Amino acid sequence: SREIRLAARPVGEPRPDTFEIGRSRVPQPGEGQVVVRNTWMSVDPYMREWMKEEVSYARPYEVGAPLFGSAVGEVVASRAGAVPVGSLVSHFLGWREYALLDAADATVLDGTLAPAEAYLGPLGTTGLTAYATVTRVAPVKPGDVVWVSAAAGAVGSIAGQIARKLGAARVIGSAGGPDKAKKLITDFGFDAALDHKAGPIAGQLAEAAPDGIDVYVDNVGGDHLRAAIGALRDHGRIGMVGAISSYNATEPVPGPDNLFTLAAKNATLRGMLINFYLDLFPEWIERGATWIADGSLHYEQTVVDGIERAPEAFLGVLSGANTGKMLVRLG
Ligand code: NDP
Repeated sequence: SREIRLAARPVGEPRPDTFEIGRSRVPQPGEGQVVVRNTWMSVDPYMREWMKEEVSYARPYEVGAPLFGSAVGEVVASRAGAVPVGSLVSHFLGWREYALLDAADATVLDGTLAPAEAYLGPLGTTGLTAYATVTRVAPVKPGDVVWVSAAAGAVGSIAGQIARKLGAARVIGSAGGPDKAKKLITDFGFDAALDHKAGPIAGQLAEAAPDGIDVYVDNVGGDHLRAAIGALRDHGRIGMVGAISSYNATEPVPGPDNLFTLAAKNATLRGMLINFYLDLFPEWIERGATWIADGSLHYEQTVVDGIERAPEAFLGVLSGANTGKMLVRLG
């Protein structure tokens, strides 16, 4: 069974030699355990954070050890009655072809609701992050003007559509490059699209939302967050979901210098870590799967084939090679 290990902690941008491919025996299950043949694995921006020596909210990856993260697959050996051979499951031992798990660490999925890999995208933690942010962290109310950054990505593409379903009057998305910007409007239903590669984001936002914004879903940080604070209306809400613009930074990044104006606007900027919202999963799966089935929630995925290309997929998600959820197909 092949697995991808962390060869060295990256400084700045991870490179192909950040990773190494290794082999291990296909494991046998002990009592209460299952073996899963992974068919899809997720590559996520947070994995860049976990490559650092210290992470505030998680266990960092170890040099020389396999990476881990979300995956789905089929149970091929089981010594656990609740999770028989043939079950479709999700779990957290991706980056390898075969995973040995305690049955309690595997979630059995309903393969009839959606394709297996959707449980790594819209019906996985990225979809749930979108849902939790616009319903709880920075709730969208009818009539709101909403801006979502990294809007062609896994979290952003779903967040914008849910904001619309919650009654937003105008939903603005931003992404990198003209193709993604166009797609925001034609495929993901945004009213306006900003291209962060085309010029300063603050000026583009002012044009798209001349009267300001009520809600900002921040996946990017830095200049995007600064622009959002500037454009925020009184009582505005910001969900601080991610700061991908700084994940590869080697120096402390300058923060927004206008944070305090939030006070004057009685605005809310609230941090979000998906671990605190897992109770929303059943509700989100029910609503999300219904919307996917009736065609009113559009999701996309960018697929890279083969575990040996997982590092390339991961580097791609950091630089914007993906639209929607970036996935690695192993099966
Ligand atoms: P995406 O699918 O959105 O992929 C990342 C995207 O970020 C790229 O496609 C790229 O899109 C964009 N990007 C990269 N660098 C920059 C930059 N300098 N400025 C602007 N955009 C940039 O990833 P996810 O949907 O998985 O994650 C989105 C964000 O949400 C991340 O910051 C992630 O860490 C965070 N997150 C947080 C969670 C939480 O619990 N708080 C849970 C899940 C995700 P483009 O081509 O448009 O530039």
